[in-house]
Amino acid sequence: MMRKRTKLIHGGIVGDVLTGAVSTPIYQTSTYKQESVGVHKGYEYSRTKNPTRFALEELMKELEEGEAGFAFSSGMAAITAIMMLFKPGDHLIFTDDVYGGTYRVMKRVLNRFHIASSFVDTTSLREIERVVTNQTKAIYLETPTNPLLKVTGIKEVTAFAKENNLLTIVDNTFLTPYFQQPLLLGADIVVHSATKYLGGHSDVVAGIVVAASKELAEQLHFIQNSTGGVLGPQDSWLLQRGIRTLGVRMNAHEENTKAIVHFLESHPKVKKVYYPGISTHPQHHLAKQQASGFGGMVSFEVESESLVDKIMQSVRYFVLAESLGAVESLISVPSKMTHASIPFERRQELGITDTLIRISVGIEDSRDLIEDLEQALS
Ligand SMILES: *Cc1c(COP(=O)(O)O)cnc(C)c1O
Repeated sequence: MMRKRTKLIHGGIVGDVLTGAVSTPIYQTSTYKQESVGVHKGYEYSRTKNPTRFALEELMKELEEGEAGFAFSSGMAAITAIMMLFKPGDHLIFTDDVYGGTYRVMKRVLNRFHIASSFVDTTSLREIERVVTNQTKAIYLETPTNPLLKVTGIKEVTAFAKENNLLTIVDNTFLTPYFQQPLLLGADIVVHSATKYLGGHSDVVAGIVVAASKELAEQLHFIQNSTGGVLGPQDSWLLQRGIRTLGVRMNAHEENTKAIVHFLESHPKVKKVYYPGISTHPQHHLAKQQASGFGGMVSFEVESESLVDKIMQSVRYFVLAESLGAVESLISVPSKMTHASIPFERRQELGITDTLIRISVGIEDSRDLIEDLEQALS
């Protein structure tokens, strides 16, 4: 059996049998010649199947240890395709501080098709039990969450879901299969915004779905081909190129994050640090159990809004931008950026205050990153 870091390099479909090219060719084609009617080499039309995309889908299938992988034109296209498994009257339960775009598509698009959604603190099984109805069909988890890094017990939730005939879907964007494999913990479907760590270089927007069972894989392929939000061959190639270095990048992100968390925790102007790797984090032990790393995302609370503004203006290496998971460090103010569409009261309830700063720690030299934060905080 291939170990993870070997699988990142040798997994999926590597190279090209025709020429011996080591890198998967970019098959920039929409259609394929048939020898006679219906006789072809497995490819008919690129919405249905494209060799470059298929190589990526096979790689992701192997990394998440599922039955089949599917590549979409964005994380939101991937999430929306999953929602096409459901029908009017169905109800789903979501992690409360789920990605803003997921909240929006459920509340403002899919609600028109009468697919209902509840958002609860999934770190507590009791909260999930409280909102389950006869119409509930699935539980959708994001763990750790954005921006507060709350951790939900995947095993505990999937056990409950199985007892109640519900599907479990996990957004694995933050940890990637390098650190966390939800299908091995009982989940049915994993989804990624591959725009983030999988791509890793802030140069491609993409989404990935991996299904655990043949039945779900068949349904998802049918939906992918029917609705058509597929990833193009160029972007499929870029994503594979990114994934080959996922292991070294994730290790570097985490090592830098540990150093930065240590610095932030001892800084007098930092009131609170959110990171699952800290021993006082409420789900620290759970995070350690179900994942092999804590990741590269950290949020922290500073003493005033004016300090937030000052930090944003004076950082040199941290790029003020939305998104996350790339080689360069990014900094953002969730309440005014990624989470601005959430009403003020709701943000307060969740703890997304105006003095909360989120950073996506890159793979620069951590000494430069710490010096940068130090000068910005002083
Ligand atoms: C960015 C993100 C998404 C949406 O993905 P896009 O590629 O931007 O469409 C979904 N979930 C999480 C956790 C994300 O960070």
